[in-house]
Amino acid sequence: MSKQVVLITGASSGIGYATAELLLEKGYTVYAGARRVERMKPLEDRGAHISNLDVRNQSSVDAFVNQAITDEGKIDAIFANAGYGVQGFFETVDLEDAIAEFDTNVFGLARTFKAVIPIMRQQGSGKLIACSSVVGMVSVPGMPWYPASKHAVEGLVDGLRMEVKEFGIDVVKIQPGYIKTEFAEVAFQYLDKAMASPHAEVYQGKMENFRHNFAQALDNGAEASTIADAVLSAIEAKDPKRAYRVNMDAIQGSFLDRVFGDRAIDRIMPMMMLRKH
Ligand code: NDP
Repeated sequence: MSKQVVLITGASSGIGYATAELLLEKGYTVYAGARRVERMKPLEDRGAHISNLDVRNQSSVDAFVNQAITDEGKIDAIFANAGYGVQGFFETVDLEDAIAEFDTNVFGLARTFKAVIPIMRQQGSGKLIACSSVVGMVSVPGMPWYPASKHAVEGLVDGLRMEVKEFGIDVVKIQPGYIKTEFAEVAFQYLDKAMASPHAEVYQGKMENFRHNFAQALDNGAEASTIADAVLSAIEAKDPKRAYRVNMDAIQGSFLDRVFGDRAIDRIMPMMMLRKH
């Protein structure tokens, strides 16, 4: 049997990188894309096909997908993982930054899936794997635009799943909790910007608490390899789950939401994210 072909967006660090490493180790043919190509050289050394990919640009996405299909003649799965978080209280965040975040996290994923669906439909098989988040199920104060983008991903792919099932295409959500990656490096740049905004004064103390609590949570987070394992499970499953939730905080987040509802979330999340240290 020919090797399974998997594409990964956002493979230059964190979860995407760890997933590429694991799939290479397991013998998959991996196409890895991100803007920082040099960061993926070690993956190339281990056999990955690396590409300069910007998911904000349809022709960049098309070139990424076309290369795989030209070389391999098929695509078995794609992990749409590229993403980042805009942090800052709602009032302090520029809408342009929120729009740009949606362009990567939501429309970047949509561009990726749009490029691959006709191929998978023709094949009569394939797996579309979306990197969502625990904050795709519950929201948090201090960075509402990031949960907003992941809620959008959730709604989009849940609808898509029902549309493409009949073509043999599975749609899967990966819902990580806190994972130790470079996520905070990008997110804190937005938090710095938010803290310098003209509307920041009333939120200043809370945003400082948020930064501390978020950094601590991420430091105590799970390894990226836990999510790579979940992606591998989804790829290997004959009948994959709709959602993979592997970290304890992600499991708790969905449990809180379902069992206690919005009122409890409104009390618990500020205590967790904005508490003084
Ligand atoms: P990292 O910052 O370590 O990795 C983000 C990846 O996304 C990088 O490879 C980056 O590559 C890529 N990326 C960003 N923008 C683009 C773009 N326009 N085109 C192509 N690639 C892009 O963070 P994580 O590994 O944590 O993030 C991966 C995914 O996991 C994201 O979707 C994130 O929202 C999600 N997630 C993370 C959690 C965590 O706690 N870390 C929790 C829940 C979900 P480059 O800059 O080189 O283009």
